[in-house]
Amino acid sequence: MIEKSIETLKGIGEKNLKLFQHLGISTIGDMLKFYPRFYSDRTVKPIKDINGGQIGCIRITALAPIKTMRTKSRLTVHKLYATDGNDTITITWFNQDWLAQNFDYNSWYNAYGDVSVSLYGKEMALRVLERSDKATTTDANVPVYSLTKNLSHNMVVKTIKQCIPYVSEIPENLPPEIREKYGLCGIGYAITNIHFPKNAQSAFFARNRLAFDELFYLQLGLRLLNKAKNKLKGTAFINGTEIASEFIKTLPYKLTNAQFNTVTDIINDTKSGKLMNRLVQGDVGCGKTVVAAIALLIAAKNGGQGAMMAPTEILAKQHYTYLKDVLTPFDVNVVLLTGSLKSKEKREALESIKDGGYNVIVGTHALIQKDVEFNNLSLVVTDEQHRFGVEQRSALAGKGGTPHTLVMTATPIPRTLALVLYGDLDVSVINEMPPGRKEVKTYSVDENMRQRINNFMIKNINEGRQVYIVCPMVNENETTELKAVTEFAKTLQNTVFSDYKVDIIHGKLKAAEKDEIMSRFVSGETNVLVSTTVVEVGVNVPNASVMVIENAERFGLSQLHQLRGRVGRGEWQSYCIMFCDGGEVAQNRMKVMTDTNDGFVIAEQDLKLRGPGEFFGTSQHGLPPLNIANLYEDLDLVKIAGDAVTDILNADSNLSKPENKIIRQDVIKMYKGNLTL
Ligand code: ADP
Ligand code: MG
Repeated sequence: MIEKSIETLKGIGEKNLKLFQHLGISTIGDMLKFYPRFYSDRTVKPIKDINGGQIGCIRITALAPIKTMRTKSRLTVHKLYATDGNDTITITWFNQDWLAQNFDYNSWYNAYGDVSVSLYGKEMALRVLERSDKATTTDANVPVYSLTKNLSHNMVVKTIKQCIPYVSEIPENLPPEIREKYGLCGIGYAITNIHFPKNAQSAFFARNRLAFDELFYLQLGLRLLNKAKNKLKGTAFINGTEIASEFIKTLPYKLTNAQFNTVTDIINDTKSGKLMNRLVQGDVGCGKTVVAAIALLIAAKNGGQGAMMAPTEILAKQHYTYLKDVLTPFDVNVVLLTGSLKSKEKREALESIKDGGYNVIVGTHALIQKDVEFNNLSLVVTDEQHRFGVEQRSALAGKGGTPHTLVMTATPIPRTLALVLYGDLDVSVINEMPPGRKEVKTYSVDENMRQRINNFMIKNINEGRQVYIVCPMVNENETTELKAVTEFAKTLQNTVFSDYKVDIIHGKLKAAEKDEIMSRFVSGETNVLVSTTVVEVGVNVPNASVMVIENAERFGLSQLHQLRGRVGRGEWQSYCIMFCDGGEVAQNRMKVMTDTNDGFVIAEQDLKLRGPGEFFGTSQHGLPPLNIANLYEDLDLVKIAGDAVTDILNADSNLSKPENKIIRQDVIKMYKGNLTL
């Protein structure tokens, strides 16, 4: 009865059902798989016993009225100066105004959160605040779930408790030999104890087993995908070397060795008749586009069609302009296909793509729509792969025959992770920058520097340069936030930059509007471009030399690095200035940015500081999500799970034996039809 709706449980009315569904939970089985994010130790401790960097629970009362402030970034910050009777601490939380409004100054509270130490003493970033006499728990292993608004923690715990009796219905998926060999507890024990661990050890075993399962299925699926792909044949391209050298002669610069080696990899892959499946990794600005151009030219000269897919319209257009420019002299017809084409233009383009009138087709997601029919698609280049998933990739690859694929990304992925995530790809790394690039000078500043930075921007504009100002948007759809960014741009136009032209660009604009704003910036008509993160990926405006990032603490390191990569693309000395008003943790992250320009180092740090879930959401790739496993912290488990996959496939290469029946069902379900077994 594990498939039964949670509606049948006590306490689940229409309202709560909706809230649970919002979290992707409809059945009892789903509920059991809703794992806690971590356990909190809610036993109350004295302030002096919790050190900076630790999470803990204290019992406090207020020493002064709560101070409430609004930050530049439109957040409300509340600060409560409190004592446990012996020591003092400042407790901080964002938004949740009701906590401050209903605060009772005559009561004691249990405050649970992250403690840090600064010049001003101990601080706590609050997670939970409860009146001590009404505290829900003071236990040592309290599961903490990721909640949605209005769904209380107690509600989740109560509901999961009711589901526990159904655990016995969950069949064991792993054969006993595997469990024994790798020291894994049973699935039933794991699920019960992940929610309500008897002690720290049982929580460890439970987590280990469930994380193992996730990493096992991830790698099993990739291995099976890979196997299927290795059997596929692609069009054999001839004369790759000759075609490439003719093209290289026309370039105004010499290819770097790394670019040259990547081109050689591509030529070797595609001449064999085997199907190419290659990832090109290279930091922003290393020159991946020209490599793509060469690959597309080779495909076209071999009588096939090459498609290049970009994540945004702006980027697709930029690639189109570039490719048209460099490929037309070689009698290659290039076309742009995006969602914003007028219907007549689109019809004509589609006709001509179908007839083979165009050899190179550049576009966005529009390329994978049903109405696009290719004549002879032999190569697909995907730029900035981290925005595309396995499903999209295979949708495009499914369009007529089996095209070679070339995937380009500037998000440097540490080798170990690349192997797991891209187990199905070969990798070329462009680890060298074109000569003569000046390093982008990077500074982390606070509000005191505002005036000086404004003057600095104006100085650069007067020298003929252009400026980006990027504002974070927590949620690209949030209208109030968008309004604030728009207001900010208006204010800048009317004050600091009253003699110059300011434009604003954000994700909510129509594609045509974005294009227009972008072309005004590219042409130099606009001096300052205020933007949300839409400039992050790929755009190339060599004349822009200053990148100012507001509330830099709210971006991930890799994202900051991508943003910084928008400047320093021309001959000018360029600057990246990050306004940061965060505490110690944020300052440390800024230091990583000011210390190095190496994207790989930054990616490693980002993984350490944030974990790969956020860094690199696996679900975006059409891979099964990792709810509990962590690709960075669980490297040992990654390896063990990989060994188990080898054991199982060695004995039963297509999972047809009865003992692997459940594994087979699971993996097919997780890879949503991308697998054929
Ligand atoms: P990315 O790898 O970030 O996509 P681009 O392909 O946009 O980088 O290249 C960035 C800039 O570097 C472009 O202006 C391009 O013309 C230039 N470029 C690429 N390769 C070389 C090279 N070997 N020597 C000099 N400049 C180059
Ligand atoms: Mg690029």
